[in-house]
Amino acid sequence: MFEKLRNAFSVAVKSFGDKELKEKDIDEVLFELEIALLESDVATEVIDALKDDLKKQLIGATVNKDKIAEVVKQELRKSISNMFDVAGTVDILSNIQKKKDKGEPYIISFMGINGTGKTTTIAKIANLLRENKYSVVIAAADTYRAGAIEQIGEHGKRLNIKVISQNYGSDPAAVARDAVLYSKSHKIDCILIDTAGRMQTSKNLMDQISKINKVVNPDLKLFVGDSLAGNDTVSQAREFHNYTKFDGAILTKSDADARGGAAISIVKVTSSPILYLGIGQEYKDLKSFDKDVFLETLFGPAEIIESVQKKVLEPKVELKPEPKVELKPEPKLN
Ligand code: GDP
Repeated sequence: MFEKLRNAFSVAVKSFGDKELKEKDIDEVLFELEIALLESDVATEVIDALKDDLKKQLIGATVNKDKIAEVVKQELRKSISNMFDVAGTVDILSNIQKKKDKGEPYIISFMGINGTGKTTTIAKIANLLRENKYSVVIAAADTYRAGAIEQIGEHGKRLNIKVISQNYGSDPAAVARDAVLYSKSHKIDCILIDTAGRMQTSKNLMDQISKINKVVNPDLKLFVGDSLAGNDTVSQAREFHNYTKFDGAILTKSDADARGGAAISIVKVTSSPILYLGIGQEYKDLKSFDKDVFLETLFGPAEIIESVQKKVLEPKVELKPEPKVELKPEPKLN
């Protein structure tokens, strides 16, 4: 997973290790980093933020030449970690419990374009909720795509979960409302609404999603994106977020994703967290997104970096931008 992105960072880190912290050298390495990140599907917003953060820390810093690589690694890690922190987190299970305590169903709507793995993901979530002892119904509110109702119906059968549906062409918001009425009368804990997979550019279809959201007012709106589609997924996320202000995202097919840029990019571009990663085709192949695990995949274990940082960076003051004087060639360093 994410080999390409990991490699991009490690090449940049090594390149810094070979240089002194002169502005020209920094620019050179940042340019290489930028290209490598673009190739790993990292959005320009992320790249600009990383470059700005690094430059602020490095220009004029008095760091021993042999420690530069570790410092760069630490700074990249910190910048990315901050991006995830800004987006926050959502604990679905405890939110469902809170609604359950009030005697109300928790409503989740899913959006995204066809083929991303949305239907499979809804089934995976349904399975996860049931494993956690919550009752679930699914609303087949994709009344648009041929086969969609049967597809979600088939998952329902396999999982033994009730699927509420109407005919093709009927109003998706009415299907969602039916599911809410059913859940209230049957004391169901959670409703999962499948919406039509649509191009993010189709205004009509986007308006339909907005209507569903208005009619049933979901507690959680989730975007499902295919990590393999990289930059396309990021632009879908951007567009869907403009329309729906979704609360979080699930990235599918991470098991096959060598690049890894989509996760950081979606988080930065939409300021919404990634909640789960799809890691295969089975119902159990869903895992909670964990920032620390993600960072570890890219940069290695945190404790090692932190202990190196302690030795290298204390006192931290040394990394603050210093007068330009520090940028002059330093024969001593050679
Ligand atoms: P939808 O059109 O968005 O509803 O997509 P589907 O749920 O039908 O999924 C499309 C294909 O992607 C199916 O073959 C799924 O088995 C597959 N798929 C979905 N999620 C994952 C995942 O996390 N990993 C892998 N490897 N395949 C997945």
